Amino acid sequence: MLASVCPAAGQTWELTEVPKPVPGPGEVLIRVHASGLCRNDVWLTDGTYPFPPIEPAIVGHEPAGEVAEVGLGVTARKVGDRVGATWIQSGCGSCDHCRLNLPVTGITGMNCDNPEMTGLTRAGGHAEYLVVPASSTVLLPDELPYEMAAPLLCAGYTSWSALRAANPQPHERVAVLGIGGLGHLALQFSKACGFETVAVTRTPDKHEVARELGADHVVSDGEALAGIGGADVVVVAGTSYEAAAECLAGLRVNGRMVLATIDPSGSFTIDPSRQFFAMGQSILGATHNGLPYLVEALDLAARGAVTPHIEVFAKEEIAEAVDRVAAGEVRFRAVVTY
Ligand SMILES: [Zn+2]
Ligand SMILES: [Zn+2]
Repeated sequence: MLASVCPAAGQTWELTEVPKPVPGPGEVLIRVHASGLCRNDVWLTDGTYPFPPIEPAIVGHEPAGEVAEVGLGVTARKVGDRVGATWIQSGCGSCDHCRLNLPVTGITGMNCDNPEMTGLTRAGGHAEYLVVPASSTVLLPDELPYEMAAPLLCAGYTSWSALRAANPQPHERVAVLGIGGLGHLALQFSKACGFETVAVTRTPDKHEVARELGADHVVSDGEALAGIGGADVVVVAGTSYEAAAECLAGLRVNGRMVLATIDPSGSFTIDPSRQFFAMGQSILGATHNGLPYLVEALDLAARGAVTPHIEVFAKEEIAEAVDRVAAGEVRFRAVVTY
């Protein structure tokens, strides 16, 4: 099969002929049709993060495709099922975290001593085929094309989990900081739920598109957010924790800020002059918070309430796709077809 392989940290991804994987017990072989390119995929291969210990190095955790083969003991999936797979496959089952017997979520991925993760510890989705545990897949709604489903498997899953974690109430105002792969979906999710929605972006040429995506107001930072009365919820969907900390200026009393992204170079620091101790506010973390949230996100997209804005690349264009994601030029999600 053909796969997009990064030969070594900092090198260019290449379309390469590699052995087709074989599903073991409990696993499915997916014929990938579309694979979303997450910023983390780029950081895994450009030296920002440790290079993944996979040989050959195939990353990617937004694969959408159809089940081509099922392993022994698989009863919940059959050949031909349209499925998506996500980042976390399983925990080790025996470390202190796994002994809590919590559902398998992104929290497992970050706390288990030895988790299995698509595109991190096992071959990922930027390939014609991949193998994952059947239990880590979700069935895709029939109405949702593979290219549209792919960005929801990480970006949409994360942004919807973040909004749900903040538990916004009907009368509350939601702000989304950073209008990129996650943020353009978070804006739409918030609007689809009927919340008064504010886009916060320092990029002037994103103001118009933020309004098209459903923002009722667009401001450039937390001070400007405070200037229009603030927000009860701030979903941090950009990758600057410095910008997130500044945005506390626009968080109302009893407000919730949800950090849903990784800033690989910065730290989140609360300015003491903000009197945070007396604001009743919460800073929450959110990740892939459980497959039921992913199913909700897919359902909203299948109903047309949310539409990922994608740039589609053929597999032969993988190097160009990676370059554009690295440069922050893709509006708003790169999806590669296989
Ligand atoms: Zn991702
Ligand atoms: Zn574990």
